[in-house]
Amino acid sequence: MPQLMISISGVRGVIGEGLTPEVMLGFAQAYGAYCKGGRVVLGRDSRVSGPLLHHAVTAGLMAIGCEVIDIGIAPTPTVKIATHNLRAAGGLIITASHNPVMWNGIKMLASDGLFLDEEQGKEVLAIRDVGTSSALKKWDSIGQASFYDKASDDHLAAVYTLPFIDIEKIRRRKFRVVADCVNGAGGVMLKKLLEHFGCEFVLLNEPPTGRFTHNPEPVPENLGELCEAVKKHRAHIGLALDPDADRLALISEKGVPLGEEYTLALATAFLLSKRKGKVVVNLSTSMVIDDIAAQHGCTVERTKVGEIHVAKHMQKVDAVIGGEGNGGVILPDIHLGRDAMVGVAMILQQLADFGGPLSELHASLPQYFMRRRKVELSSGLDPKQVLQKILQKYRHENLDTQDGVKILRDESWVQVRASNTEPILRIMSEARSAAIAEKYCEELAAMVAA
Ligand code: MG
Repeated sequence: MPQLMISISGVRGVIGEGLTPEVMLGFAQAYGAYCKGGRVVLGRDSRVSGPLLHHAVTAGLMAIGCEVIDIGIAPTPTVKIATHNLRAAGGLIITASHNPVMWNGIKMLASDGLFLDEEQGKEVLAIRDVGTSSALKKWDSIGQASFYDKASDDHLAAVYTLPFIDIEKIRRRKFRVVADCVNGAGGVMLKKLLEHFGCEFVLLNEPPTGRFTHNPEPVPENLGELCEAVKKHRAHIGLALDPDADRLALISEKGVPLGEEYTLALATAFLLSKRKGKVVVNLSTSMVIDDIAAQHGCTVERTKVGEIHVAKHMQKVDAVIGGEGNGGVILPDIHLGRDAMVGVAMILQQLADFGGPLSELHASLPQYFMRRRKVELSSGLDPKQVLQKILQKYRHENLDTQDGVKILRDESWVQVRASNTEPILRIMSEARSAAIAEKYCEELAAMVAA
């Protein structure tokens, strides 16, 4: 399996195997040259390898003459907001998002705080290929680094002042909350937010030690401890973050995971009840979004998977909300990026408005069932060949080939696509019944393996 994945959105790799300080240094120098030696905001998640990579990246940026504004351990959305607020030429986040603990990497931002798009990302990779020796500065013009400690407060202040957040109303509900912060970058901020909203709370895996006690992807199979704790503490809601706090999953008061698709579904239902407009999601996001939008007389547009595709399209069509079904809520009022803190504020407000329990709120939405499978590409499988084979087999059906192959059927679909961040193929299916979703997923998994 390749232990280093380089793409237009950054690098991910396994520490000490593919991902070394040299790799990060080279990447940081190329990015610094792309930013023309300007100001760069730098944040990281809590991973144990974070400080190691932080030093390499800082050195690379300074060598090119960049002014490095270090904001320390911070969620990805916080770095985005700081990049925009501090008028930087760019921003970098040292994170491997939801990947397991041995992974780390870089996500790259443009000056507007959005991830680099395809063209911008290719430019950085081209600079890296050519080399940056001609851009290295002499002793008297190397960059300087300073620390900015207000980034998370700036981010929270933006959340608190959202027009449809009524903090007094949320406080009156005295929500009991249990959250799993997965020892990631979001725990410290989430604690401040819950305190501000007058919640009673229990935080699991709160300190940002980066020593994940379970697989950090906030999907139901990893949230057993949280579900038990929600029941034990008789909480109104359970919250699960990923290590860089751009994804949010919800647990009902009954200790049942709603599935991360329903985070965006609830947020969309909430937002459209306040404000009408277009919704933008990726191709793999649940059809429940289409139903919710239709109920409000609004339309949904779909893009390739990957936050930048959604964000750019939201910008283009002036969407009121968007995101990805993996628990990534994007609210353009603050910034065009997935943001777990924004998600928490919206869901608590929605619960306060609704008055009843989360399980009832969830049940009030149309119900779909999804199945997901990862197929490792370790056995020398070529994803392009596999996709071609599937395309051939299902050519008589209704297909969408914007991203892998998506087969659209009656009130259901199944999709297979290559992951952007891991050496795997992802198979996803959705239907009105769990049995049909399962059947479609199995069918494609068998095809991939054959
Ligand atoms: Mg993430």
